[in-house]
Amino acid sequence: MPVSSPVIRDGVVAVAAGRILAVGSAASLRAQYACARMESCQGVLLPGLVNAHIHLELSAFTDIPRPAPGETFCDWIRFLLRVRQEGRISPDEQVCAARKMLQQQHDSGVLLLLDIGNIQPALRQSSSPLILAPAQVTFLLELLAPTAKAEEQLLAQIALLADEVAATPHALYSTTAGIITILKQRADRLGHILSLHVAESADEIELLRSGQGCFRNFLAERGAWEDAFPRPGMDREINSRGAVEYLGYLGLLDANLLCVHCVQVSEKEVQMLAARGCKVCVCPGSNRFLGVGIAPLEMMLHHKLLPALGTDSIASNNGLDLWREMQILREEHPGVNPAQILAMATLAGAAALHREQDCGALAPGRTASFLNVDSLALQGAGSAEQLLDILTGSGCPGMIRWITEA
Ligand SMILES: [Zn+2]
Repeated sequence: MPVSSPVIRDGVVAVAAGRILAVGSAASLRAQYACARMESCQGVLLPGLVNAHIHLELSAFTDIPRPAPGETFCDWIRFLLRVRQEGRISPDEQVCAARKMLQQQHDSGVLLLLDIGNIQPALRQSSSPLILAPAQVTFLLELLAPTAKAEEQLLAQIALLADEVAATPHALYSTTAGIITILKQRADRLGHILSLHVAESADEIELLRSGQGCFRNFLAERGAWEDAFPRPGMDREINSRGAVEYLGYLGLLDANLLCVHCVQVSEKEVQMLAARGCKVCVCPGSNRFLGVGIAPLEMMLHHKLLPALGTDSIASNNGLDLWREMQILREEHPGVNPAQILAMATLAGAAALHREQDCGALAPGRTASFLNVDSLALQGAGSAEQLLDILTGSGCPGMIRWITEA
């Protein structure tokens, strides 16, 4: 199952020196590689998965309850921050949980993750660094500055960051427009990805439109409300815009922007994202957990925007398995072609992380680390459609084994 091209019955993947040389049918490739050592597999060969949004540093925070009826997204953030600030979970326990999560990700077939965190330096100081992990991690240091004073302090911090540290804003409600713009310019200059939480909840949109709602109260109780959101200097027109339109207003919509969630977006905003080549990552399990709605996947696909797939953290999801995320998408979007759902978890994730030359598909030049998934159901499938149905719809498609040719 190359993903970037049609399913091949009795397929062969020819590899050498860690790269794929060719993908085709056994009949067409056997003669060409007659001297090669053969390894036979049953079931399906497919590319490793890409988790385009996770917060590994929150892996120990498994007991954060979902918002109860009548509670808001902000109540969930309050609870999470309180547990983090209480310090009941030690830095060592957090590192241990993050490493365990990374191993689980790898074991479930994830090749590459985009990890967002704001305490990564503490994790890196540990004697057991995450860098030794089996899956590949692209880490973005998440920065928050909701006020002018915090902005000043953060600017000094940004100036001291080493170029290899990729920094990214958290969200529109927690990072000033000035900081978001500076971080985007920095990311563009250094070739990093800029990823932020966008249009995750209706509460976020209410703040953008009216300056009211639970986010205003949340910021005020933390001394971070300046009655200046949207930021000074912006015209009144901005008050009626959505989150993507706000990013457009700031001039930030392009292929180096990864917008995570995009639940509360209008069709006009989806068109803007597609037209500018922006990347999108949806996190259906987390959205369901927090009760913030369902991202308009059909609308995105209609406008030729294939989003990547992410799990977000265990603090806002019941489990971080991408096969389960695909299953949730199948449940919530029964009309969407399963092939597109598998492409979201592979090809689109690789594109979102600017790694499409390296992973996301079984194709010449890409990594020779890929998956063999096998089960009786897969062996008994009579068509490509049945294979895709089992892979994306079961939540647990079978035995997962890594094929790696170094
Ligand atoms: Zn997140």
